[in-house]
Amino acid sequence: MNIFPDDKELKRLITLEDPAPLRETADKLRREWYGTDVYVRGLIEFSNHCKNNCRYCGIRAGNTSVQRYRLAEEEIIALTSNGYGQGFRTFVLQSGEDPAFDDESICRIIRGIKTSHPDCAVTLSIGEKPEESYRKYFEAGASRYLLRHETADEAHYRRLHPETMSLGNRKQCLRNLKKIGFQVGAGFMVGSPYQTLDNLVADLRFLQELQPDMIGIGPFIPAKGTPFENEPQGSLQMTLNLISILRIMFPYALIPATTALGSVDPDGMILGLKAGANVLMPNLTPPDVRKLYSIYDNKSSIKEEATVTDGSLSELVRSAGYRIVIDRGDVKSHS
Ligand code: SAM
Repeated sequence: MNIFPDDKELKRLITLEDPAPLRETADKLRREWYGTDVYVRGLIEFSNHCKNNCRYCGIRAGNTSVQRYRLAEEEIIALTSNGYGQGFRTFVLQSGEDPAFDDESICRIIRGIKTSHPDCAVTLSIGEKPEESYRKYFEAGASRYLLRHETADEAHYRRLHPETMSLGNRKQCLRNLKKIGFQVGAGFMVGSPYQTLDNLVADLRFLQELQPDMIGIGPFIPAKGTPFENEPQGSLQMTLNLISILRIMFPYALIPATTALGSVDPDGMILGLKAGANVLMPNLTPPDVRKLYSIYDNKSSIKEEATVTDGSLSELVRSAGYRIVIDRGDVKSHS
């Protein structure tokens, strides 16, 4: 059963100062749908080149202080093979919108991973593309796509993005991805500049309409060299409240405790799981370039030092009452 509170109740829940009952309801639903399972995704940030100029993002094209890098196709595939040995069964390939990786290149990478490890899921997070490109990626074997809508409010969207981008196109991309058959992830930042409570309600209403399989949210964190470098960071508490609300409204969903959450609080990731999240994304990007994927300042990263089910991360998750599993971690069926 999905629960959809009205706008007034949503605003009360988003700003709740004593969230214990909200957390309890969310955790109960999460256990009903996913038990104590936590799915892990091996994150590979393969390029920090980006043609876009999103005002909040540290790797925006206009940030000339960023040292740019690209991983080679073979290196990306080798990282997934390594990750497979550690127990990862899903890989998330993320980058800025980098024209150097054309459709053929992306498809070669997908096919390379799927040929070596057909039981793995490949998730892409590479931005807005024509429908035809999405179709090629799907046919090559990618099955999931993360594309946060960022904000569902037209005026707010315009304040966060350059004129070359539009909310209409972002939404259309999400619909195209769904139509093609991808498991789709949308989401937004919490506390991005100019965001209001009404904007957050609009985000939840948009998600209700889209019914995504995955929902990624995290606090806005200012990034040096961007127009928003001096803006305040988003609230941990509000982000956790929103994770619980998402679990209650979309009990079936795959919801990550994001890197941004872990970056604003050392316990952020575990707090995220306790609030209703059921996915973690350890970073498999090589350490020498990981720090260059600087979408915001003081970015933390979860590292899985041993294997997925045996290491300090799995111990931490176990101590919080959950269990990392070796599994593709597909979404449970929902309408
Ligand atoms: N280029 C792809 C895209 O647009 O979907 C993927 C990479 S993009 C850097 C991934 C996500 O990082 C964005 O969807 C955005 O929500 C998040 N992000 C960017 N800058 C951020 C910031 N300053 N604070 C928190 N999250 C941020």
